[in-house]
Amino acid sequence: MEKPVILAVDDEPAVLSAVARDLRREYGARYRVMRADSGQTALEIVRELKLRNVPVALFLVDQRMPLMSGVEFLEEAIGVFPEAKRVLLTAYADTEAAIRAINDVGLNHYLMKPWDPPEDHLYPVLTDLLDDWQVSFAPPFEGIRVVGHQWSAQSHQVKNFLARNLVPYQWMDVEIDGEARDLLELSGSDGSRLPLVLFPHGPSLVQPTNLEIANEIGLKTRPGLPFYDLVIVGAGPAGLAAAVYGASEGLSTLLIEGEAPGGQAGTSSRIENYLGFPSGLSGGDLTRRAVAQASRFGAEILTPLQTTGVRLQDPYRFVTLTDGSEVSCHTLLISTGVSYRTLDAPGIERLAGAGVYYGAAITEALACQDKDVFVVGAGNSAGQAAVYLSRFARSVTMLVRGESLARSMSHYLVAQIETHEKITVLARSSVAEVKGDASLEEVVIADAVTGDTRSAPAYALFIFIGARPRTDWVADLVERDSAGFIPTGPGVMRDGQRPRGWGLDRDPFLLETSVPGIFAAGDVRQRSVKRIASAVGEGSMAVQFVHQYLSRVPE
Ligand SMILES: Cc1cc2nc3c(=O)[nH]c(=O)nc-3n(C[C@H](O)[C@H](O)[C@H](O)COP(=O)(O)OP(=O)(O)OC[C@H]3O[C@@H](n4cnc5c(N)ncnc54)[C@H](O)[C@@H]3O)c2cc1C
Repeated sequence: MEKPVILAVDDEPAVLSAVARDLRREYGARYRVMRADSGQTALEIVRELKLRNVPVALFLVDQRMPLMSGVEFLEEAIGVFPEAKRVLLTAYADTEAAIRAINDVGLNHYLMKPWDPPEDHLYPVLTDLLDDWQVSFAPPFEGIRVVGHQWSAQSHQVKNFLARNLVPYQWMDVEIDGEARDLLELSGSDGSRLPLVLFPHGPSLVQPTNLEIANEIGLKTRPGLPFYDLVIVGAGPAGLAAAVYGASEGLSTLLIEGEAPGGQAGTSSRIENYLGFPSGLSGGDLTRRAVAQASRFGAEILTPLQTTGVRLQDPYRFVTLTDGSEVSCHTLLISTGVSYRTLDAPGIERLAGAGVYYGAAITEALACQDKDVFVVGAGNSAGQAAVYLSRFARSVTMLVRGESLARSMSHYLVAQIETHEKITVLARSSVAEVKGDASLEEVVIADAVTGDTRSAPAYALFIFIGARPRTDWVADLVERDSAGFIPTGPGVMRDGQRPRGWGLDRDPFLLETSVPGIFAAGDVRQRSVKRIASAVGEGSMAVQFVHQYLSRVPE
């Protein structure tokens, strides 16, 4: 934490230097002594400190200053730092003003100038006040503060990005938090563009992009080398496992992630079926461990950076990044997984991020305290979300198209849901429409058999309805099936023939795509199992094929 501040304010340069010198000598180890030569300058410092979340312990202010007196300054400054102690530097003639200030601004003390020797006239008073301040001082939250509106899609996006990158932050809702409104005012914002993101020791950004946030929090967004043995695109379980094995086995390895490491698994509130964790673990925990492991072995991880294309210039593969730059490699692993399908119903698009969320149960769950929420979907991800949300919400209603959950959800989850008193499953039901002005207020539910509809009040709707592979960026080069999944190994052979343009005297390896040296692993692969363990397994296996490929690639 930055040291709390003692702010000395005096318009006479010699006096200001002397007081700052004396303060530093006695308190410099525990406090940062700052100085200002006018009330106006001091107020600017006060605003800046508040935005950076640095506390002020004491104001030591000259009463006689042109334009703004000491008391006038204190009147404003204590609105920003009400806990700070207040001491006025006065001459004999100011005694009356100082006494009035005891009532007006809660003045703690007034000192006569000069205060020499400070051991007798300055330190005893100030030490007493500072000790007093310390006792009641609650250290401020030291991380990033996000000031926004619960129903703003941009605020949701920022919170989600920070949470998924495992960066702690404090959420401050302008609707219910007076301090949030104060911060907006101090920053000069009229609140029309939210969120305002305040970085400790750094700038305040309005509606920052993920890339801007990444730069502030020190995520790596540029490759360190122009060329790698192995470039992996997508840092879900498959990509992270490949990075661990690739880097630990001596390959120069670059892992590129478009949003946040962890992929779909990173959004899971509780993974109960992953080997070695009998009481389960959260997706965030798994991600944190995997990222640390891959980094420890020397894998480079870039976040958030999307790849937009790939081209061949044998023996090199060139991957294009969003900014148009390229990074080259001998081998490429596609582990870009799948993303949620969007729900097509009136109102959904408009209210996305404002009560309607795709797979964002963890980020928004706290806000659902004692509310009625809905989950759409019948897979494991929907089931996990329902169980997790039930810890906060008053009621969780699952809208399921089919007859029951049993066909699409793991048995252990079905059992939890069926016996959960807060969760209701509405089978043969779908969302016909969502309604609300600024945020979701109502879900219109359709009965699949009768076609009847009915409305229910809703605070939030979480959608988990199947997935689409994220492979458009390789469409020009790599073979895909009609749904966009990537076939590998035997899947790219046609009647015993190798893919067109293959050009090598061997068949594709098990996880190799229709292009030599380009591999696919995890959910993105045609007919993959869609489980964390299988994605991890495939990512690890892919590295074995990478070695085999590299052993024969011309230098
Ligand atoms: C909520 C939820 C709970 C789940 N729970 C379980 C469970 O309990 N047990 C279980 O076994 N499975 C579970 N699953 C399924 C499991 O998470 C997936 O099977 C697994 O994550 C697939 O891993 P992957 O690495 O193949 O892809 P993903 O996890 O989908 O990761 C792909 C990554 O690639 C990135 N990416 C995509 N395109 C690009 C691009 N162009 N450039 C850069 N990056 C890109 C994405 O941002 C993403 O991070 C769950 C899934 C969800 C959604």
